[in-house]
Amino acid sequence: MQGLMMDYQLTLRPLLERAVRIFPKRELVTKVGTTLHRYTYADMYPRVCKLANVLGKLGVKHGDRVGTLAWNNYRHLELYFAVPCSGAVLHTLNLRLPPEQIIYIINHAEDKVLFVDQSLLPLVEKIASHLKTVKTIVVMADTPLQTSLMEAVSYEELLAAEDDHYVWPDLDERDAAAMCYTSGTTGNPKGVLYSHRSIYLHTMGICQTDSLGLSTNDTMMPVVPMFHVLAWGLPFAATLLGCKQVFPGPHLQPRDLAELIQDEHVTITAGVPTLWLGLFGLLEHERYDLAALHTMIVGGAAAPRSMIENYQKKLGLQIVHAWGMTETSPLGSVARLKAEMRDLPEEEQYVIRAKQGIPAPGVEIRAVDENGNEVPNDGKTMGELQIRGPWIASAYYNDPRSAASFMDGWFRTGDVITIDGDGYIQIVDRTKDLVKSGGEWISTIELESAIMAHPKVLEAAVIAVPHPKWQERPLALVVPRAKDDPPNKTDIYELLTKHFAKWQLPDDVVFVESIAKTSVGKFDKKVLREAYKEYHLPSISSEYLGSE
Ligand code: AMP
Repeated sequence: MQGLMMDYQLTLRPLLERAVRIFPKRELVTKVGTTLHRYTYADMYPRVCKLANVLGKLGVKHGDRVGTLAWNNYRHLELYFAVPCSGAVLHTLNLRLPPEQIIYIINHAEDKVLFVDQSLLPLVEKIASHLKTVKTIVVMADTPLQTSLMEAVSYEELLAAEDDHYVWPDLDERDAAAMCYTSGTTGNPKGVLYSHRSIYLHTMGICQTDSLGLSTNDTMMPVVPMFHVLAWGLPFAATLLGCKQVFPGPHLQPRDLAELIQDEHVTITAGVPTLWLGLFGLLEHERYDLAALHTMIVGGAAAPRSMIENYQKKLGLQIVHAWGMTETSPLGSVARLKAEMRDLPEEEQYVIRAKQGIPAPGVEIRAVDENGNEVPNDGKTMGELQIRGPWIASAYYNDPRSAASFMDGWFRTGDVITIDGDGYIQIVDRTKDLVKSGGEWISTIELESAIMAHPKVLEAAVIAVPHPKWQERPLALVVPRAKDDPPNKTDIYELLTKHFAKWQLPDDVVFVESIAKTSVGKFDKKVLREAYKEYHLPSISSEYLGSE
């Protein structure tokens, strides 16, 4: 017998319409150069309808891919709704990838139209001749269009010519709505194709109090790019709830962010750890009123415990640590304390908050050994993180590599984790980043997190370097916080010997000015391993090992 409930299709149109009906006056603010562009959901809606009409005129049909090469801004948000709600597929392109990869991605996805921020036009001019399927390039500019590209047209001119009435098609919830390619470090990027249903359910997932906990009364600023896993789904959730949204555009320097949080009274924001490490450096020395800010969601890479602690203790700001991937939409797990943990000593609470947390309601997680057996939840035994749920990918888009990652209804993440008795996961490493030393594994993330706790350290990355006897040994690269007051090696080893066995310590510590980052701001371990593969590792001198 079947239930007698409506077969209501979970598509994105009602998300937008709710904001327009219930919160028409809520603002959407974008930093444009030195000014702010402001308008409301009521102003946005007719433009989204016009944009849907434009797409029709440009010959975009149901299921066609529409590429975007844009920063976080209001026009990008218009595309977030006009493209999927009219039946096409929003394909956000990572503008920081090397041009060859952007070309590969556009051709692989067979994008028909490309929407480009004016500031990114030079990049498109460079690659345009290699694009096999793109028929039109729409430039999102505030000034009249100037370009050598034959296919280029102006966004604002196209919109101005259209009617602001549009009849949205009835879509199947399983229709593709959006796609993102992974910023994978090996081989070509892989396409992840989200459906209306998966985004809808993920939106519900991130609104939950115990996950990202977005509220109608929040002012949400996504610092995570709208091209990185759809800004972690936050623009959809914020629109559903009618939140005020603040978009920093390309202005991602700590001072830009601090000013926006202060002036626009941002209450919740999200981004990768490197970004917040930079902001902390500023906030230590300059005063901003960030009293409205109640939550900073940090994910995409491990948030060092010292960072969570520093923000809380020195600035009274709460970091919530979360884990996810492009393939998981991205919400996978969130580290919030359970009520019964609030009486634990402060130190223990920080240890828990620095883990990647418990599975978000709606997804299932397990850790599996090389024989496919689940490992015990003892907080020690490592296994590969596998995940399944309604917003987890089931395959890569047109990619034979799917077979290796999707098995028995689970997605194999390639992340190595432990799970403790309370169900909290801790990412030990990406499989390929672990240091395999004489049959033992050493977590680079744990070493990095410990080194970054040193007050004189800004950033630290640990990598495996080939070793004739042990196969691999760890090497630490450290960026001092202040050039004129750097830490020394003894300081670093003193700190590490408190937490790690001798065999786990890095064989050397190299002080560097900066650490290579990926297109989404994570330490680029592949580039670092390549750069240091011939590094001559000394054996750790006893002068660094204290009295041991
Ligand atoms: P991406 O698809 O670019 O978002 O990258 C996903 C990968 O980032 C995951 O497989 C993890 O290795 C890493 N990652 C994401 N969030 C975290 C986190 N909170 N802690 C450690 N690693 C993370």
